Amino acid sequence: MAQKVVLEPDVQFIREVNKRGGDTLKKCFQCATCSVVCPISPENKPFPRKEMIDASWGLSGKLVSDVDVWLCHQCGDCSVKCPRGARPGDVLGAIRNYAIEYYAKPKVLAKWVNDPKMLPALVAIPVVLFLVVGLITGLLHFKPVPLHEGVISHGDFFSSWLVDIIFIPTFTFAAVVFLLGLKNFVTDLHSSAVREGKVTVQTINWKEFLLAAPKVLLTIVKHEKFTECGENSDRATTHMMVLYGFIGLFIVTGFFFLVLYGSMFAQYLAHGDFFGYAYKHAWHSPYSQWNPVKWLANISGIALLVGSLVMMKNRLTKDPRHAKTSYQDWYLVGLVFLLAVTGLGAEMTRLAGAAGLTYFVYFLHLVCVFCLFAYTPFSKLAHLVYRTVAMIYAEYAGREAKKA
Ligand code: SF4
Ligand code: SF4
Repeated sequence: MAQKVVLEPDVQFIREVNKRGGDTLKKCFQCATCSVVCPISPENKPFPRKEMIDASWGLSGKLVSDVDVWLCHQCGDCSVKCPRGARPGDVLGAIRNYAIEYYAKPKVLAKWVNDPKMLPALVAIPVVLFLVVGLITGLLHFKPVPLHEGVISHGDFFSSWLVDIIFIPTFTFAAVVFLLGLKNFVTDLHSSAVREGKVTVQTINWKEFLLAAPKVLLTIVKHEKFTECGENSDRATTHMMVLYGFIGLFIVTGFFFLVLYGSMFAQYLAHGDFFGYAYKHAWHSPYSQWNPVKWLANISGIALLVGSLVMMKNRLTKDPRHAKTSYQDWYLVGLVFLLAVTGLGAEMTRLAGAAGLTYFVYFLHLVCVFCLFAYTPFSKLAHLVYRTVAMIYAEYAGREAKKA
């Protein structure tokens, strides 16, 4: 006798997918063209047709734990070939966005980050935080206190203490949100893959899971999956520019952080007075333009700027029948653009000697950096982390892409 299966459609989920760019979902008539043309779908239980069916049934629980949703790189090959214009690539993108919100906590912040009406409130949080903490601690100097005579330094206005008092807890908060979300994510991925017969391993061997990481990381760094796409293979270049830009700036920030606190600690050991003499005589920015780390910072900033500009142009000129740009897409590309503009702008205005203007642009830059740190676990940018983990899981579990 056939087994009875009870389906529990989540109507709210269907609405959410609609809102996030998957508004063509119901056009699908399940022909499977998309699964055939997808260049990276496995032979065994290929995607995205089955995800289209699950999504139109509102099976949210099944989809948030579906590893295949994350193997999709939204190249759009399937959307171009779909005879019904159902844009399966965008539907999968909308499901990923929903899954990021599903795994992130606190939920209220996740909802805010994905709601355009809440954008002013999200921006107001760091503005108020910097002003209030800066005024209470006295670390925000409306009358700048020069660290180096005759040299404009952003630290004269916002003490580096103030920046770190706010950014270290913010960064830690984001890391904790990611770790908690990923713990549930991997557990769900595995339960679902076992249940659906996509994998043969029953329990996760964490050592082997971690050993699968280097191969996947190399694939990501080389953007191999993007280059398998037919329709949007040129997207690999801009995506790489933004990824390498972020990696470069991450290295630069870490390096200058270590230099500042390392030199401060060395001064403290020699002279004592950590918050006075040692702070004053530590190696503060600005650093010489001849410093190779500064070159890396500038090149990374330019990569972010050019990458985000080309991404915006591509989104504006793309055929709307094949791809739609959601609020989540604009939020991400807009934030990358503003980070680059304010970062490079703060440097150029400083070099031009425009003290008031450079302090203001630097403040805007700090607001953007706060938005990047604090809201990334809830925004589309989190796909960088979730997709990496899902790809490692797929590699570990032997979920192979089809061979040409
Ligand atoms: S999304 Fe389009 S191509 Fe895929 S099954 Fe549905 S109708 Fe066919
Ligand atoms: S968007 Fe590209 S990777 Fe994603 S399902 Fe469609 S063809 Fe496959």
